[in-house]
Amino acid sequence: MSNSDLRQRSLAAVWHPCTQMKQHAGDQAVAMIPIASGKGVWLYDFDGHRYLDGISSWWVNLFGHCNPRINAALREQLDQLEHVILAGCTHRPVVELSERLSALAGGKLGHCFYASDGASATEIALKMSFHYWRNRGRQDKQEFLCLSGSYHGETVGALAVTDVALFKDAYAPLIRAASTVATPDARLASDGETAVDVARRAAAALENHLEQHHHRVAALIVEPLVQCASGMAMYDPEYLRLARQLCDRYEVHLICDEIAVGCGRTGTFFAHQQAAIRPDFLCLSKGISGGYLPLSIVLTSDQVYGAFYDDRISRGFLHSHSYTGNALACRAALATLDIFADDRVIDANRLLAEQLARGLSPLADHPRVRHLRQRGMIAAFDVLNDDPGFSERFCRNALAREILLRPIGNTVYFMPPYVLSHDECEFLVAGAIAALEATLVA
Ligand SMILES: *Cc1c(COP(=O)(O)O)cnc(C)c1O
Repeated sequence: MSNSDLRQRSLAAVWHPCTQMKQHAGDQAVAMIPIASGKGVWLYDFDGHRYLDGISSWWVNLFGHCNPRINAALREQLDQLEHVILAGCTHRPVVELSERLSALAGGKLGHCFYASDGASATEIALKMSFHYWRNRGRQDKQEFLCLSGSYHGETVGALAVTDVALFKDAYAPLIRAASTVATPDARLASDGETAVDVARRAAAALENHLEQHHHRVAALIVEPLVQCASGMAMYDPEYLRLARQLCDRYEVHLICDEIAVGCGRTGTFFAHQQAAIRPDFLCLSKGISGGYLPLSIVLTSDQVYGAFYDDRISRGFLHSHSYTGNALACRAALATLDIFADDRVIDANRLLAEQLARGLSPLADHPRVRHLRQRGMIAAFDVLNDDPGFSERFCRNALAREILLRPIGNTVYFMPPYVLSHDECEFLVAGAIAALEATLVA
């Protein structure tokens, strides 16, 4: 098997996600990379090239490819139970995972509902919130609020609370639109304003909206601390504190979508913990299975759970997916949580994040770089340029330096696996800076 052979067959038979397939045709195309194997932070193609996975394979891989500890746990699980229906049956991995996640969330989100992907977790949280109010006799609460620039997935229901025109506009007639309120994105600070000022300004806009419409609003959904998919927009935890207070005052649920920012990505196990708040719903996916298997979880409180607990079946939450609570995926998640505990990963990441920051710091003075920013294991900067092909050209230049990075528009970002070594971190930063220069001169 060679790269070009598999590439040709893939382009003929596979409809790739989030891709205009025609961009893969012609000489100027970004070549599709056929991956033969992976080990640690490295991916290997069929022609013997390697690439450092600087984006954790779409933000899912935490502890490297083919991690020996996760592999061993999965092998063991394979010989015990691969999957069983989770309606009417249960199994050890799903029980243990639920208990451990609830403990990690401070013991107040003690009910875990399972699905297979992030968008489904979003939809479950939205449906549960809506149904909660209905069961409580508040049929008027039917609307959802999201932040401008939000991304919560791309199924028709999740697109309602996703504010990215490129993903949404074509489907507008299908979507029951939510209301959008101001983002606390710290880049919006005007001269003399701090990130906290921007957060307070955005919270004031939220207050204004809720003051007028709270009786119709079921929930506010936010991505805590970093709005990832719309370009790593980072904001101060003050916004989450104020939003929590407003949601309490106006009887509105707070949904924290930690599909991307959870699992230690921002420096704490859950991002919302940096604001010392508790959401009513917590959505997890991506990194929770270590990047191995599709798994998502919605955690919620006794209060929400209690509104569904009834003699009438119709008041229950009658939602399901065939692979709900898949045993292999849950076992991969348990092995992932074991690594967090055994290796004290949150502490170790602090040093790794500092190293990443030191490496990128020269870019703060680069004439074409703006808003160099970082929150834990996410770093990003914006590049001044008006080439609509910047992202693809940067990607090609990075691949030529053995690095896999995919800028979002003009925002270059880093979301590496947590097993990046000192040398690999330097390799990643040096390669990215060289790729940036090569992209800007061309
Ligand atoms: C990726 C992502 C989703 C959607 O998850 P999928 O598994 O891709 O459906 C939802 N919310 C956030 C914040 C995400 O980053």
